[in-house]
Amino acid sequence: MMANDSGCSYHKCSYREWFTTYDVVDSGGVMMANDSVCKAVGKGTVRLKMHDGVVRTLTDVRYVPDLKRNLISLGTLDSIGCRYSAEGGVMKISRGALTVMKGKKIGTLYVLDGSTVTGSAAVASSSMTESDTTKLWHMRLGHMSERGLNLLSKRGLLCGQSTRKMDLCEHCVFAKQKRVAFSIGTHRTKGTLDYIHSNLWGPAQVVSKGGASYLLTFIDDFFRKVWVYFLKSKSDVFTNFKQWKCMIEKQTGRQIKRLRTDNGLEFCSGEFNKFCKDEGIVRHRTVHHTPQQNGVAERMNRTHLERARCMLSNAGLGKDFWAEATSMDCYLVNRSPSTAIECKTPEEVWSGTPTDYFDLKVFGGTAYMHVCSQEVAQDTTEEEDGGSSEPIVETKNYSIARDRPRREIQKPKRYSDADLVAYALSVAETIDESEPSTYKEAIQSDNSERWLVAMNEEMKSLHKNQTWKLVKPPKGKKIVGCKWVFKRKEGIPKVEDARYKHA
Ligand SMILES: [Zn+2]
Repeated sequence: MMANDSGCSYHKCSYREWFTTYDVVDSGGVMMANDSVCKAVGKGTVRLKMHDGVVRTLTDVRYVPDLKRNLISLGTLDSIGCRYSAEGGVMKISRGALTVMKGKKIGTLYVLDGSTVTGSAAVASSSMTESDTTKLWHMRLGHMSERGLNLLSKRGLLCGQSTRKMDLCEHCVFAKQKRVAFSIGTHRTKGTLDYIHSNLWGPAQVVSKGGASYLLTFIDDFFRKVWVYFLKSKSDVFTNFKQWKCMIEKQTGRQIKRLRTDNGLEFCSGEFNKFCKDEGIVRHRTVHHTPQQNGVAERMNRTHLERARCMLSNAGLGKDFWAEATSMDCYLVNRSPSTAIECKTPEEVWSGTPTDYFDLKVFGGTAYMHVCSQEVAQDTTEEEDGGSSEPIVETKNYSIARDRPRREIQKPKRYSDADLVAYALSVAETIDESEPSTYKEAIQSDNSERWLVAMNEEMKSLHKNQTWKLVKPPKGKKIVGCKWVFKRKEGIPKVEDARYKHA
């Protein structure tokens, strides 16, 4: 059992046998809350099996034999990039999207939901974990190749987790995906929008949920960033191209110089040609149905569709979700390393900041959308008024997984070592009143009768199990006290009342 503690500056442990690795140190005293000094005699690593069954390693743990309680330092976790939040008596410590530790508030401290792993079991579980994380990232990143995963993990972008050789992924095999080769790109373009690749794919076998049959892609040769559009008919190509051109030129402050497409009619209509001529865009045309000539865009479309198949298979979704999967894949491709830009990701070259994968979820996972009741009410009124002038937010391309706003994480107040008592007190004030912390409180509370019943039951069972023998205290020995812990378990509404327990 370990307590999360915001006040201490090191993880501390009083059991020598809990350490997996251990070195003797002479680091002097460790300041405790009550101004006493405990001596740290060694340091090392301790392995803990967490709430989710995953074994995680705490490094730089001080061995303090005189310690009353083992402490995990939130300050130390914070400095290695963990975030923490406490809500409703539960503290969550997360690294990226993963909750790595959980603690429940008991009395004035958060007690870790987990157990210590000692001996060789620790090593075995740890390799299991790495394989699981590799698979998870493979799925999150739209069935990315091992090599791509490796590149990202080496740069520490996958929440600091490392990846290893992956086990066979049945969805990749099912979708007949070749290992996506990282083609060696020769980079001739000097700036963004100098050279745009575009391609139209379709008609799809199945019309998408949004009614689309075609997939239109634009790729910026310089950044290798991809934009996808889902069209109902081929004739929408021209309108979409004009809109995209307007948007991208305004956003980048640059202008499209050359456009590479095949000579399909949708790209070569009279109006399309005239528009390009008027705008001074030089055309590069390849022969229709000879993908070799329009390499970049064709390859990109093939990759999109293969990976979309993997994601659909993985999520157990039908073909009519192809647009959703492709849209997600486009998002991921823009965040996958590309050799054409020195194994960086298009998005990071484009935006100048490394890609953040923290909030990434596996495609097809269950998601819940929060609908504010006030907003719903407003919408209705607007309709009654005959529609509003507010622009309608398109939700077609909205992916809850990637577009949802980040929840603001509230950090608990922090105190230095000396203020631990204040910390403990401030927590104590917020304790749910329905759980008394002492016998006296229980007896004086509104639920005293129920607490009494619970205590009597507990006493009965202690006697029944012959938990103790009554003896006279040996002279000169310290007596270890014991304490009632009162827990109120929420019942099921209308089925079961709340249960009053203690241990
Ligand atoms: Zn796969």
